[in-house]
Amino acid sequence: MKKFVLVGCMISVLGSLAAQKPKSDYPIAQRLASYKSFTLTTDTLALTAAEKTCLVHLIKAAEQADRIFWKQTYMDKEKALGGIKNDTLKRFMELNYGPWDRLNNNESFVKGVGEKPLGVNFYPPVFDPSTVDSIFYPELFSPYTVVRPFNPQMPKGEGQDGPKEPKKPEGQEPGNGDMMPPDFQLQGAAGAGFDLQPIPSKSGTASMATQRFGTVYQKEVFKMVDEMNRAAEAIQEEDPNFAMYLRERAGAMMSDDYIHSDVRWLEQRSHLDIIIGPIENYEDKLYGAKTSYEAYVLIRDLEWGKKLDKFVAMLPELQAGIPVEAAYKPAIASAPEPKFDEMGNPMPVEDLGPIEKPGFPPIPRPAAPMSQLAVFDVVYYGGDCNAGSKTIAVNLPNDETLQTYFGTRRSQLKNAMQAKFDNMVVPISKELINPKQRKYIDFNGFFSNVMFHEVAHGLGVKNLVTDSSITCREALGANYSAIEECKADVLGLYMVTQLWDKKELEGSLENYYITFVASVFRSVRFGAASAHGKANMITFNTLMKAGAVTRDDKGFYTVNMQAMRKAIDALAAELLRLQGDGNAAGVEAMLSGRAQVGTSLQQDLARLEKANIPVDLVFDQGIETLGLGHYYQESNMQQRP
Ligand SMILES: [Zn+2]
Repeated sequence: MKKFVLVGCMISVLGSLAAQKPKSDYPIAQRLASYKSFTLTTDTLALTAAEKTCLVHLIKAAEQADRIFWKQTYMDKEKALGGIKNDTLKRFMELNYGPWDRLNNNESFVKGVGEKPLGVNFYPPVFDPSTVDSIFYPELFSPYTVVRPFNPQMPKGEGQDGPKEPKKPEGQEPGNGDMMPPDFQLQGAAGAGFDLQPIPSKSGTASMATQRFGTVYQKEVFKMVDEMNRAAEAIQEEDPNFAMYLRERAGAMMSDDYIHSDVRWLEQRSHLDIIIGPIENYEDKLYGAKTSYEAYVLIRDLEWGKKLDKFVAMLPELQAGIPVEAAYKPAIASAPEPKFDEMGNPMPVEDLGPIEKPGFPPIPRPAAPMSQLAVFDVVYYGGDCNAGSKTIAVNLPNDETLQTYFGTRRSQLKNAMQAKFDNMVVPISKELINPKQRKYIDFNGFFSNVMFHEVAHGLGVKNLVTDSSITCREALGANYSAIEECKADVLGLYMVTQLWDKKELEGSLENYYITFVASVFRSVRFGAASAHGKANMITFNTLMKAGAVTRDDKGFYTVNMQAMRKAIDALAAELLRLQGDGNAAGVEAMLSGRAQVGTSLQQDLARLEKANIPVDLVFDQGIETLGLGHYYQESNMQQRP
């Protein structure tokens, strides 16, 4: 069970938004220059007319997810940026989705703005679950609700003509006005057309309430659903199965019930794709429970897909070979061969009766998980995945029950990966890697490492070894993400080693290991505010301690191949035991001991700063960037005369 502690956050209320000014001592121009701009494109000639029309509506839907993320993490985008005269500040604020520098431990860069609230707009400023019967109100920690203080104010006319149609105070829905939204009022209570759930305090009166995302962000959700449905219409004839997914996903946005559409998504092999909805929990640094909206609009690389199917088929064998006690590597059933009809649409999975898990909808169980590895070009990033460090590979869905029965899809985002490799990994290796080893740095090694990182999320243990009803995520709370990312890095490298030994991978093992180490420096720069940043610090410090990586007095790093192999195995086993035992104290100790940047690394990172190596990318993207503006206009004229 979760242990709740009293957590208060210092919130400094902004004065007039129009007066926002940069902190005089914050190097905003310099920080902004550390982002390299990159244009997201794809070969639009390879798309049919219907696909182009579908694509523009998908991008429009994704733009709404982006808007909701602004509200979740800070406030309405227009309100946040509207009054800013200083262009540098405006741009920096835009790419950080607020006044806190995401790649510098969330330091505030706007005058008068205090620390970033750990629970952003998901929870009230001072949130103390111990004052309410949270055990009886699981919606407090639902991934899809907002929690607010509840003000049991009776609406006028109550008791005379029955409950009135709810009316929200103008501009005061959560996230839509000031930095911290006001309390919920009873006028939005359950039974009056809203899904507000008042939660009584232990003394009896309601003190808190939750409301579903679909209601809180209704305005954006309606627009998003409309665009998804129009995208479905456009592609209906060419790819009815994808159209069906789009419609189901649109329905899920309304009900905040994502399980069915996640299953449908796992079956997709469509040329176009979209990942959209409240998905990752990185932004909830208070309890790691709430999810943020994001969207990726994708175009599948069909050739790469075939190569990758082969590696997924090897997962059960690779899991069995992990150098750790058997309890920490439960057997993985081998994936069934996907079956397709004459039209190339996936055939329904075999019905083995519903999954029996409390709270889980009665979905038929497939014969085995449908895990999929896929490569895409991204043409649009919106919301959470576009904030701070840009995601170049993504493993979804996150629901553990879905993962167990249906598997996951690991999506490699190839155009974004190539951009990061060229603009960051190569220049970093020129500054920090032993000149004799630099020749091993290559894109194939980088691409494979990231790919196997994603595969490795599917390896290891999901539930506690001692009590399978508790997931490792539940047991480790907010620290889970960093440990899980570190596990994926290290087990990914373990897989590379295994496959290279079996002659399944090209190049030399040096290509993979040395490119991995160069990439660790890249990710350490994300800082301790990021799960990936912490994960890479643990890896770096562990490899240094084991002598797998050494630093000479010129500040160049050398990889010791034999010691690397051993260190990877040892760290993998250590992480799997921490997860499988739900050892929260052990995880704390690991984070405080090893997720730190030492003095010499600090100096080396400063060298990267001096060399003007970009910290991350910022995307030029959208319908106009793709040259498809007229498709949106034409589609609008046809569908809405
Ligand atoms: Zn990961």
